[in-house]
Amino acid sequence: MIVDLRSDTVTVPTKKMLESMMDSKVGDDVYGEDPTVNLLQAKVASMFGKDVGMFFPSGTMANQTAIKLHTNPGEQIICDKYSHIYNYEGGGASFNSGVSFNLIDGDRGMFNSKQAADSINPKDFYHSPLSSLIAVENTTNKGGGACWDINELKKIQKVAKLNELGMHLDGARIWNAMVYKEHNPLDIGGVFDTISVCLSKGLGCPIGSVLIGDNEIMSNALRIRKILGGGMRQAGYLASAGIFALDNNINRLSEDHQRAHEIGEVLAKSKYVKSVEKIETNIVIFELNKEINETSFIDKLNSLNIKLISMGSNKLRLVTHINYTNIHHDYFLSSIKSL
Ligand SMILES: *Cc1c(COP(=O)(O)O)cnc(C)c1O
Repeated sequence: MIVDLRSDTVTVPTKKMLESMMDSKVGDDVYGEDPTVNLLQAKVASMFGKDVGMFFPSGTMANQTAIKLHTNPGEQIICDKYSHIYNYEGGGASFNSGVSFNLIDGDRGMFNSKQAADSINPKDFYHSPLSSLIAVENTTNKGGGACWDINELKKIQKVAKLNELGMHLDGARIWNAMVYKEHNPLDIGGVFDTISVCLSKGLGCPIGSVLIGDNEIMSNALRIRKILGGGMRQAGYLASAGIFALDNNINRLSEDHQRAHEIGEVLAKSKYVKSVEKIETNIVIFELNKEINETSFIDKLNSLNIKLISMGSNKLRLVTHINYTNIHHDYFLSSIKSL
């Protein structure tokens, strides 16, 4: 048995998901003729109250497209210092859109409306880059799966409106936030101009993200996706997995959250662990005691067929997911206890 807790992206499709994929009606999506892709796009858009959705091979490409839609070269994005778009997209924002970042020193990847307002460069001060987009991540990845307060998001939206800035949500794990906070997706949709969501993380699909927004902002999205090489053909086989996951795999995320909490409790008692960061959803970040070598700790777990990843500075991360079942959970907890 291998317990792979490196990410919720390591999941493989269940038999039922595979069956629904095999049954898909497909067509050439570059001609807009794949009925299953069209269905998925409309389903995600209407869930959040937006006009249109667009299917993407990855969350990175969906975010990069959104950044391009909201900005011109030379402009600036306001986001938290932990953001995926800043840390983990290979410098794509500067490569693809020629923009820079104004990073907020937030709390677990989240910031408040005052911090957002203070980060905006005055429009008439032409020495500074023009601020054009506020980007939010929910749940936060590097922030340990933390969930935003919807009221703070609404305040940030007011700041953005007042200053004519766009609002983008990197919602790779928005499903986890929706389940944990019991958010209505329409409320979330109301706050942002564009939202990217991942199907290939907690929802257990092999591939796929969707970018949604209203007609006006999305009018150039097809062209940008084409330029980035994201036009796919009979992608309905993949979109079908997304439709299955939206219908079946959202509510069960609470199981992943429960197991993450249980892991946190056991880790907090371990003599190897200095501290466990606050756990809300399916991500657990913990820091090893100073005298424990991170690499040898990971190697030790590897020898027990347990995989997790380093976040640097003696911090480790693990993520629970649909393929991490009770058998894995029991084995993992007893392994940690017996170290
Ligand atoms: C995983 C992730 C993405 C997109 O990742 P891909 O691997 O490109 O699909 C974007 N944002 C966050 C916060 C993520 O965790």
